[in-house]
Amino acid sequence: MKLKKTRKARNCYSCKSSISKGNLYGQKSIALGSKVNGQSETAEGMYTVVHQMRIPVDMCQTCLEVK
Ligand SMILES: [Zn+2]
Repeated sequence: MKLKKTRKARNCYSCKSSISKGNLYGQKSIALGSKVNGQSETAEGMYTVVHQMRIPVDMCQTCLEVK
């Protein structure tokens, strides 16, 4: 994960703390929601059609380092 310096104040998606201007942050894409109704899926997961929306979220340095 590459950290960038923010030019504006952001909020960490994970811990909700604020990332102030000049601090390091990273962006991560997360899946929004779970499976979409109407999509097909087999029991064994051999053929899976799952449409997930992925959105980028801001994360503070602390949250990105905790793994
Ligand atoms: Zn955080």
